[in-house]
Amino acid sequence: MAMMRVMAIPSPRGRFRLAERPLPEPGREEVRIRVAACGVCHSDSLTVEGLMPGIRYPRVPGHEVIGTIEALGPDVDGWSVGTRVGVGWFGGSCGYCPQCRRDSAFACENAQEVTGVTRDGGYATHMLARVPALARVPEDLDSVTSAPLLCAGMTTFNALRNAGAGPGDLVAILGVGGLGHLGIQYAARQGFHTVAVNRGRDKEELARSLGAYEYIDSAVADLAAALRAMGGAKAILATVTSAEAMEAIVGGLGPNGTLMVIGAVPKLTINSLDLLAKRAAVKGWYSGTGRDSEDTLMFSRMNGIASINEIYPFERAQDAYEHMMSGKARFRVVLRMDD
Ligand SMILES: [Zn+2]
Ligand SMILES: [Zn+2]
Repeated sequence: MAMMRVMAIPSPRGRFRLAERPLPEPGREEVRIRVAACGVCHSDSLTVEGLMPGIRYPRVPGHEVIGTIEALGPDVDGWSVGTRVGVGWFGGSCGYCPQCRRDSAFACENAQEVTGVTRDGGYATHMLARVPALARVPEDLDSVTSAPLLCAGMTTFNALRNAGAGPGDLVAILGVGGLGHLGIQYAARQGFHTVAVNRGRDKEELARSLGAYEYIDSAVADLAAALRAMGGAKAILATVTSAEAMEAIVGGLGPNGTLMVIGAVPKLTINSLDLLAKRAAVKGWYSGTGRDSEDTLMFSRMNGIASINEIYPFERAQDAYEHMMSGKARFRVVLRMDD
């Protein structure tokens, strides 16, 4: 019997365990992917730590997947064996519920599927994916280095293009880390007057080399005042997981500005006076669908945008995960499947 290998979490707060399983047959509107690489994302901790109710174990995490379609299930149209595809957080949608019919498939009422959380993900040599979750991968985009674009890349790219800013507008990227180092590149290539914000000066040179036109050291500056002195931000992309940092910067929004929150924090306190007179807004952002992933990959290809990665062999998923969680990774961690 043909087998695959997975790095699975046996139970909440468990450690990764290598397992052999029979190769699964794709169901209706599903494909089987031979995985080439999978990024290690902070959200994988939801599965590893059991932080989301209803996860069934053992579970294979991983939602920054690039691979090749190896088998098609029934009723799959428009996709072929041999096509390179990516899969992100979005696990699929039904296509017929009111949200899907209003072009909001991310909020599908029937298929609340999350790759690597409600269904097995890409810490594996093979995985199944639903067709709506698939993104085509440009031929000359490297699988291993590009895997993080499926979550970290797409979330920042998509939030920025939906932030209401246009070319020339002042846009701040709060945090120069796994998300922020990509956010800076997307902001600059989308034509924004890009400001990188981080604690200390040690990442300034890197931020500027990635496309930041200005840099603010959040440890010394009054962040909000610094942004207001530049005219106020049309958008701020909050990639950090610190409510304090978001609270310190929100006053830097300009008229009709939006704070786009993509880093999860338990509680965020905003002074409404920072919003009212400026008609400013605070908005959360869902990463995106298969189509958004595809746009991200193509935009990255066209503009030479790349994730800076540390690469681990698939069998070292535990080390890779712990390194990512330590916050010391520069900047994304990727598992490479051997083939
Ligand atoms: Zn992610
Ligand atoms: Zn739906």
